[in-house]
Amino acid sequence: MDLHSGLPYWIIKNELFDYFNPLDADIETEVVIIGSGITGSLVAHELCEAKIPCVMIDKRTIATGSSAASTSQLQYEIDVPLSELIEKVGEEKAVKAYKDCLDSITDLENIYKKIKADPDFRRVPTTLLASNRKGLKLLKKEYEIRKKYDLPVDFLEKEELKEQLNLDAPGALYNETSAQMDCYKGATSILKYHLKQSNFQLFSHTLITDYEETSSGYKLLTEGGNTIKCKYVIIAAGFEAGEFLPKKVMDLLSTYVIISQPVYEDMLWKNRSLIWETKEPYLYMRTTVDNRIIVGGEDISFSNPKHRDSRLRNKIKKLENKFKKMFPEIPFVTDMAWCGTFSATKDGLPFIGAWPEKPNMLFALGYGGNGITFSMIAAQMIRNIVEDKEEPRLDVYGFNEDRI
Ligand SMILES: Cc1cc2nc3c(=O)[nH]c(=O)nc-3n(C[C@H](O)[C@H](O)[C@H](O)COP(=O)(O)OP(=O)(O)OC[C@H]3O[C@@H](n4cnc5c(N)ncnc54)[C@H](O)[C@@H]3O)c2cc1C
Repeated sequence: MDLHSGLPYWIIKNELFDYFNPLDADIETEVVIIGSGITGSLVAHELCEAKIPCVMIDKRTIATGSSAASTSQLQYEIDVPLSELIEKVGEEKAVKAYKDCLDSITDLENIYKKIKADPDFRRVPTTLLASNRKGLKLLKKEYEIRKKYDLPVDFLEKEELKEQLNLDAPGALYNETSAQMDCYKGATSILKYHLKQSNFQLFSHTLITDYEETSSGYKLLTEGGNTIKCKYVIIAAGFEAGEFLPKKVMDLLSTYVIISQPVYEDMLWKNRSLIWETKEPYLYMRTTVDNRIIVGGEDISFSNPKHRDSRLRNKIKKLENKFKKMFPEIPFVTDMAWCGTFSATKDGLPFIGAWPEKPNMLFALGYGGNGITFSMIAAQMIRNIVEDKEEPRLDVYGFNEDRI
């Protein structure tokens, strides 16, 4: 599947990790990770830290799937408000998911400190705007419930919002625990580090076409006719993971992104917070370290890449107009634009762990608008499962009967 098109800024800003190493022999290892995006990279990091031998396979140039198109906003709040998530999955699981996402931002930060890489990881606040009166009501409810569970949150009244961000909205939720990064650099810096430091092998341009269960795990078959024997196979194949799943567990959506030319720093909104809103589909925005502005949204259901791409020109105009209405004083000139595919699950939570009766095939599917924080959680869970440690988070994110 064509995962994105247009010109994602990150692939231009960074030097392409131009690594060409197709698998051309039969090999054997403990763990095979399919997918070199941010999810596979974080899984590889956790396994390498645990000194577990692993091999990563990708059919594309490294990390050029969805991770290269991501706007990479890291927030503890997921697409489904906590009050709604409680209704869907119950209080305990919903609060756990929100807290896991909060922790995962610090866990990501610590990984980059440890490997001494800077994927433009920056701590920034989040402002969640009420789009209208209905949104304001939702945010007031959400504020109370997040407070009850000790989640970091403030409520900004209309006047405070005007003063702090020069924004007109009926109110907003605000917290200072979020972050932003460059997901492409985030994935490739981890891989480069472990290629040097660890017992880790990386094969690009190698498509896994088939697999069979063996008495000791799996035998994977590549398009080139080679086999890989392993104990565990980790499916970090992003939105193309459906081919490994017995049943569809998510819906695909397309989202559109524009990035401005740089502006003078003092023209940006104060505090450079991530901004999004209660309306659906929501508009989302952030700044970059070189003082550009990224605006995304205008999501539609995904039918095929051609349909998604044909809407890009029109969506650019819509996003520009929405931004200009919100911040008329900021000169926004679109430099690049792209669209990408992402997916949503019924309850807004990712799928992590083994499909029932396939204990050695572990899925790391960070579906939803918070894919990266979910990838971090998935990587930790997979390490624990492979190390045969208890993993209570399976109760929340696993392929449990009530979720599939
Ligand atoms: C425009 C956009 C904006 C987003 N914004 C945010 C955001 O602000 N915050 C956030 O947290 N998340 C965001 N997301 C979601 C986030 O980017 C994704 O969840 C994340 O990048 C997924 O990473 P991944 O590694 O799972 O998948 P990918 O990066 O797609 O990597 C999967 C890899 O698997 C490989 N693969 C698949 N099948 C096979 C096979 N059979 N054989 C070999 N290789 C295979 C692919 O080639 C691919 O490289 C956004 C997504 C998009 C598209």
